[in-house]
Amino acid sequence: MSPQCCIITIGDELLMGQTIDTNSAWLAKELNEIGIRVKHRVAVGDVAEDIKQSLHDALSWANLVILTGGLGPTSDDITKPLLCDFFGGKLIEHAAVKNHVIDFFQKRNRPILDSNVAQAMVPDVCEVLFNNVGTAPGMLFHYGETLVVSLPGVPFEMKFLFTERLREKLIQTWDVKPLLHRHIVTSGEGESFVAERLRDFELQLPKGIKLAYLPDLSLVKLRLSAEAHLANELDYAQRLLSKYVAPIMVYAGDQKPEEALKDLMVKHGLRLALAESCTGGHIAARITSVPGASTYFNGGYVPYSVDAKEHVVGVSGNSLQQYTAVSEVVAHELAVQTRSAFGSDYALSVTGYLEKGDHANEVWIGIAGPNNGFESKKITVPYDREKNTILVVNMAFTLLYNVVKLGLRK
Ligand code: AMP
Ligand code: MG
Repeated sequence: MSPQCCIITIGDELLMGQTIDTNSAWLAKELNEIGIRVKHRVAVGDVAEDIKQSLHDALSWANLVILTGGLGPTSDDITKPLLCDFFGGKLIEHAAVKNHVIDFFQKRNRPILDSNVAQAMVPDVCEVLFNNVGTAPGMLFHYGETLVVSLPGVPFEMKFLFTERLREKLIQTWDVKPLLHRHIVTSGEGESFVAERLRDFELQLPKGIKLAYLPDLSLVKLRLSAEAHLANELDYAQRLLSKYVAPIMVYAGDQKPEEALKDLMVKHGLRLALAESCTGGHIAARITSVPGASTYFNGGYVPYSVDAKEHVVGVSGNSLQQYTAVSEVVAHELAVQTRSAFGSDYALSVTGYLEKGDHANEVWIGIAGPNNGFESKKITVPYDREKNTILVVNMAFTLLYNVVKLGLRK
């Protein structure tokens, strides 16, 4: 039987709504991934009685209790002495943790306070989960067959300790099998339309395989999941799914659009340049968030004003006057001029209005490629500025991905 887990997050700030409890959401997701069911999630304040009570309740049924928070060096952080007391231990100095804490402060050129050194005091009844990225170690206690784990509240430290120190141990302790996933990313149809397409597919899904719709702005990611022993069935389901969604499928895999685009461009040895007007550099920022983007990305313009479109990028004044800056003709000239200025294989342009004003909320995306090839798309953007930006960026990535995959139309 799969182990049952209780997550207890500790901190007054969680109960006052100052901090959103992202730790338990993240942990729950990770635990589910490895086949551990989270049955309860509890948040309590920095109050000894409340922490003890929730721990006591959890120990009456759980195989695994994970606590986060209250391990800092300040007086409101009471989790460590409390757990030490609860499990009948005493605090002793841990040499390796002490060296690490001293080193941690020295490297940052910061003075060390007694409260910092006290981070190296750990209960003698726990296994220390060494924290390379912070000063508070995690702690693992055994309570009969039940594991009780205490992790720091700082999200990146908590994630480090779970991933590097705990995950594998949990998998081995209960011999759980991580769930397998296969992903297909589609674009161009909303979730409900994709669901219509997949009505027959869902009826044919092999037993034990689950389909999830994960919609994002302009994209719908489809995820097939199954337990580890159903790997073959899962592959079969993915092949079948890709047939059903062929007209709207962009790529298979769990990558972000900018990661998938990078792989495709690099695979074909192609280079890219940008002329981003209304997205103001967001496409470039997403491209350069992927390590190694320089292997395909030359650079780009942000020609926001009409003047810059004409005098920096080289769009003709005539076109701007006759068709206005938000037009297919201008998207075309932006892309063509940018491609030649950067000497890239492809250039992508965006020009438009992200909000309704005196103008329609319309955006043109243009792609210029080899052999005078060009492709364009007009989108009407329905949300607020922030969401519309993400929508246009995602759309630009998937459009470009398809163009590179399938070739330009005209
Ligand atoms: P603590 O370990 O309680 O001193 O927490 C240190 C920092 O982590 C504080 O800035 C908290 O707001 C943050 N934090 C604590 N618990 C959580 C949680 N459950 N989710 C997100 N952030 C948290
Ligand atoms: Mg706290």
